[in-house]
Amino acid sequence: MLAEIKGINEECGVFGIWGHEKAAELTYYGLHSMQHRGQEGAGIVVNTGRELKAHKGLGLVNDVFKPVKFDDLAGRVAVGHVRYATQGGRGIENVQPLLFQSQTGGMALAHNGNLMNAHELRGELEREGSILQTSSDTEVLAHLIKRSGEVTEDSIARALNRVVGAYAYIILQEDKMFAALDPAGIRPLSIGRLGDAYVVASETCAFDQIGATFEREVLPGELITISDDGIHSTRFAPRDKRRMCAMEYVYLSRPDSDVNYVNVHASRKQMGKELAKESSIDADIVIGVPDSSISAAIGFAEESGLPYEMGIIKNRYVGRTFIQPSQELRELGVKMKLSPVRSIIEGKRVVMIDDSIVRGTTSRRIVQMLKEAGAKEVHVRIASPAIQNPCYYGIDMSTKQELIGANYSVDEINDIIGSDTLAYLSEQGLEKAIVKDKTINQGVCMACMTGKYPVKQDGELEIHYTSC
Ligand code: SF4
Repeated sequence: MLAEIKGINEECGVFGIWGHEKAAELTYYGLHSMQHRGQEGAGIVVNTGRELKAHKGLGLVNDVFKPVKFDDLAGRVAVGHVRYATQGGRGIENVQPLLFQSQTGGMALAHNGNLMNAHELRGELEREGSILQTSSDTEVLAHLIKRSGEVTEDSIARALNRVVGAYAYIILQEDKMFAALDPAGIRPLSIGRLGDAYVVASETCAFDQIGATFEREVLPGELITISDDGIHSTRFAPRDKRRMCAMEYVYLSRPDSDVNYVNVHASRKQMGKELAKESSIDADIVIGVPDSSISAAIGFAEESGLPYEMGIIKNRYVGRTFIQPSQELRELGVKMKLSPVRSIIEGKRVVMIDDSIVRGTTSRRIVQMLKEAGAKEVHVRIASPAIQNPCYYGIDMSTKQELIGANYSVDEINDIIGSDTLAYLSEQGLEKAIVKDKTINQGVCMACMTGKYPVKQDGELEIHYTSC
């Protein structure tokens, strides 16, 4: 079961724009700003006024769209996607947005998240005669929507009520664009404006990139319809307590993005402060592992009164280690990616802040690198609780067997990675750093750290909150 779930996991970015002459070009820039969410494939579907037309490819956004003349993708409406694929589904056929043509018109789908019951639904669809062309669970939703013919609010709402998991969808047909978020609001999805145009994106950094302004978050269980008549909101599921993925703040999102009304850099800095309150240590300098741990390191330094130093430099031309699929590439990636600043490190007692430990390989190599550069002591402080459980909501972070936090105690991990001391941020500390105002933020999913999954396999939600 676990392998199946892992096989369909993905962490992606979605973008949609309605009502702008340069829709495809702006989508390109929006996707570019969300490149960190997926580096293995990208695509744009534009409504040319006559048809829905796609350009997709494997690789980075820049590479995929280098040969494209945007005049060939002219239109006022577009939807785009950047994709992170697991080993099971790296073919071009799985690159999104998926585009379907039928007698009643076209439909394009872009999806971020994971459907926990995709396997069962796929079986059901196949038994009923559907022929699925991809291994992506996004296609499952497409078939469920089209089963009732037209693509309407009703057919989408009916389909969404069949799927279980964490998801943010943008669905495009000729005269409407829809955006939907799962009933627990685990994945991020925001609405913005650019003049008269509406924009929808996984992260608000995409709005900043194209000069759009943030309007609001899509709510858990909400289905938004955008057309030339404006924007309309309905609900396909009762409103539940929002459980935004805590890893979006810890690692995944860009620091300049606001996720569910909280700035990512500010929350990371607060994680560092909480960490310093919980596990301070006598040391000379604080350093952060670039890039995602820099904000937490600054917070730790501020709270502890220790100087923050640039002790590790990142080679900007190497991709993220976490997001590369094979173990060999991960090992090689760390070596190529980070270098210690010897003159800063040498002879010092160093507090090294990292955002998380997944398999432990990266942490071990960095500690070793700092010691080789002459660090007298290396005290590792992790700005999140230990990851002990797999994610079923669209983030690929290995099986339980591969997670070092699931298999070893803190003392054992300290020995394995070779640090002098090791401490993690507590669950309470992490929640405090993210949830400033419970009426707005409500809560976070921390299931990979706590084992408390907000959405169960059978679709049951852990806590029912309000309904309207
Ligand atoms: Fe995010 Fe972890 Fe929850 Fe998955 S289990 S949605 S990675 S917090």
